[in-house]
Formats: sequence, C-alpha cells, structure tokens
Amino acid sequence: MEIVHIAAEMAPIAKVGGLADVLHGLSRASMSKEAQVEVILPFYKSLNKKEIKNLKPLMPSPLLNVPFGGEKRLVTQLWKGKVDGVDVTFIESKEYFERDGIYGEPDDPERFAFFSKAALEYLVQNRRKPTVLHIHDWHTSLVAPLCRQLYGQRLDSPRIILTIHNLFYQGKTVPELLEKVGLNFEPLLADVVDPHAINLLRSGISHADFVTTVSPSYAKEMVAPENGDPLSTVLRGKKERFRGILNGIDTDYWNPAKDPYLPHHYSVDQLKENPPFLEGKNALKRELQKELGLKEENSLLVAAVTRLVPQKGPHLIKHAIYRTLEKGGQFVFLGSAPEGDVQETFSNLKYKLEGSCHVHFELTYNEKLSHLVYAASDLFLVPSLFEPCGLTQMIAMRYGSVPLVRRTGGLADTVFDEVNGFSFEPPHPEAIQKCLDRAFRLRSKEPAKWGDLIYQGMSTDHSWKSAVEEYFKIYQSNAVASHS
Ligand code: ADP
Repeated sequence: MEIVHIAAEMAPIAKVGGLADVLHGLSRASMSKEAQVEVILPFYKSLNKKEIKNLKPLMPSPLLNVPFGGEKRLVTQLWKGKVDGVDVTFIESKEYFERDGIYGEPDDPERFAFFSKAALEYLVQNRRKPTVLHIHDWHTSLVAPLCRQLYGQRLDSPRIILTIHNLFYQGKTVPELLEKVGLNFEPLLADVVDPHAINLLRSGISHADFVTTVSPSYAKEMVAPENGDPLSTVLRGKKERFRGILNGIDTDYWNPAKDPYLPHHYSVDQLKENPPFLEGKNALKRELQKELGLKEENSLLVAAVTRLVPQKGPHLIKHAIYRTLEKGGQFVFLGSAPEGDVQETFSNLKYKLEGSCHVHFELTYNEKLSHLVYAASDLFLVPSLFEPCGLTQMIAMRYGSVPLVRRTGGLADTVFDEVNGFSFEPPHPEAIQKCLDRAFRLRSKEPAKWGDLIYQGMSTDHSWKSAVEEYFKIYQSNAVASHS
C-alpha cells in the first residue's frame, strides 16, 4: 500500500501545533505496517533543517511546472529528505513559502491552494499511483476536488481521506482562487452560509471518500444538531463515511525513560508509593525551578503548554494561575500567541507577577523547555473551550504529570475524573477553581491516591497502535464516495 500524506505541518521540522505531531506519529506508525509512506510538505524558509537527513534536490528532473493562474506556470524546485525514517518531499516556492512563519499571511488560501496543486503535479509528473492520498485540514482540502476534476485518472483514482484536526479553521476565500487552480465552480466548493465564497474545508469534506476527525467525542460534537457550525450539516451528510479516531502520541519521541532533552530519566516501574515518588522526576523539578528562578521547594507545580488562542481557555488559565498561587503552589506557563490581544493579556500578567519566585511565564514556542515542563510538573492544565483531540494531556500523563482538563472533545475521551486526572465542565472560573482545589487537597491528604493517578496515566497505552489499525481499515475499505 502506498500512502501519501499532503499536509502543512510535520514535527519536528515544521510545527505550530498538534497537526505536526499527528503527521510525524501517524506516518511513522504506518511504516510499521509495512506500508510505503511519504509526506509532502511546503519547503518553508523556517524548516528545522537539522532534523532532516539527506536533504537534496530531487534528481534527475528537479524542476516542477505548475499551471497556476491561467497561462501562468510557476516553476518550483523539489527536495527530498528523511525525517525520523519517513520519506518527505518538499515543494519549494520562492513566491509562497519564502516567508518567516508557517501561517498568518493574508494570502494563506492562495499559498496552500498552490501547494495542493503542486503536490498533485509532482505525483502525476513522476507517474505515481498512490493507493491513498491522506489530506489534512483546510490547507490541503483542495486536493480532493482537484483529484475529482483534473488529476484522478492520471493518478489511478487514489482513495482520498481527509482528516479534520480543527473544524474552527476552514479556509474561507474568494472564488477567483478556483480559476487559478483550474477548477470549475460547483456548489460543493462554496461556503454553506455565503454561496459567493469558497470554503476550502467544505470542498474537501464533500469530495473525500472518507472524512475523519481526531477523537470520537469531537466527531459527535461536530454533527450534533446544537452545533452551530454550518459544516455540521455537510458532515451529517457523510453518514458512515465520517468517523472520529483518537489520536495517539509518538511514545518513542515522548518517553521520559530516554528523552534526549532531559538530563534525568525515569519510568513508571520506578514509582514508589506513599508518598508517590519518582526520583528522576523530582530531580527534574529541581532543574526546572533552578533554570526558571523558582523557589526550590516541593509545592505542587502546575503547568500549561499551549498555543495561546481563545480555544484554549486563556481566561481559565489566568484564573488558575492566581488560584495556584493562593494555594501555595507554583505555576509555569509556556505559550505563544498568534493573536495580539491574548498575547498582551499574558504579557501584562507576566509583568505584574514577575517578582514572584512561584510563577514563570515563557511567552514563546520552545520545544526543549516543553519536555522539561511536562517532566517536572505535578499537574497539567488543559481547560479548552473546545478540543478536537488535544495531545498535551496525553504527553503530560506519559511524563507522570496529572492532567486537569475541561470535559470536551478528545479531553473527555482521555481524562477521567479521579481515575487518571481531574475534569470539570462549565467553562467558568468557579468550576476550574473547584477542580483545582480538589487536586490540591488530594495531593496533600491522599498521597496514595495521587500516586494511583500518576500510575494510571503513565501506564496507559497512548501510542498510535490502535489508531493506525483504524486508519488502515479505512485506507483498505472499498467505500467509494457518492459526493455530498
Ligand atoms: P493544538 O494542535 O490545538 O495546538 P495539541 O494539544 O493537539 O493542540 O498539540 C499541541 C502540541 O504543540 C503539543 O506537542 C505541545 O507540546 C506543543 N506546543 C504548544 N505550544 C507550545 C509552546 N509554546 N512551546 C512548545 N511546544 C508547544
């Protein structure tokens, strides 16, 4: 079986959030099923090239002609490399990807439309016949209608699977984009509410053979009648060709027993009871406290590692920071914001609390520090307003940090109150406060039970194993789209 993923992110070379981890973890796990796997990515200026082995221009025909915009053809360079054993093909375009970040440009829909088209041109020009094209989010959704209208036959009609990692981002854009990629307008490409606009995610949902999302609960939320998103109706129309599959995490990469970012290591079988104690983890807590200028003490260390967007419940995080300090705990916050006003709220908070040796704010993206924070913390907050899957709570559990989450989407599928973590439902400060107070109480009054929570989290299998089985069933199924 030949599986080609076409996506905007892949860890650790181009990462904004969980999409990158999924590409990395799922493609590596698929290789263990003896499938041939390739990932196609844009050649971003910001690629972390240190992590790419044997990066070289594709020979013998390194240039790719992509018809884009009537008579215009954009000539691009192709690169090949390996990322943790996975074959990756990069599409270079000075015009679209020689920019500082990955997203956030006004012409993002055009950039990723070009990328989608170029990926298909690359496959056709190299006479490839993949079994499956696995596309991800709005960025590469256009691959589905492009295949239907233009490329399908030349590629031998690959099965097209779209995974929605976050329904919130849909790629709404102007109809002129269709002309650029050479597609005819059809209603299945239009936005449901505004028929004069194009909705890239909708185009993918309507034309894919199968649509998945990243947890069963989020799948239910997406099609629930009370979900106000207009795409709910389109998803309901997919019926049995839409399913939620819980993401895994790469348990080789996220492994406290051998994580190269950590100066000390530990594993679940070293967990000592009463009080629960992991020597390596305790040493890492002291390391983090030293590194961040926190007081070296054994109070409850609470952490959050997150993109700072409204989805992640910044007002709840802010409340939890104050409550943690009132309860005599410590808080480490690692987060970066693409949105100015959320960043400003946290910059102000950092400024206000800077003098305290019980709280630290790191308002950047920092992979290395994130590993230390997962490992050193006791309690890990994910109070999202909605959460398609969420990986951070699973990573935290793997590192023996007890998750405290809002019961929604994938968080509800992975964290069970007082079994392997804590959860609350109403998205209000009082609710997170009560939940946080319970965690503080349990840790100080019932240490053995706290140890059970750590044990449950660390010993659960959060790997990609069962998700990969489910993806392969879909890859192999004969369900052929009747487009809706
Ligand atoms: P989302 O995809 O919505 O951002 P997920 O929980 O699915 O949320 O994935 C987040 C991923 O990004 C995790 O691997 C997390 O460790 C990482 N991450 C988020 N923010 C940061 C940051 N500021 N520094 C380092 N890693 C981060």
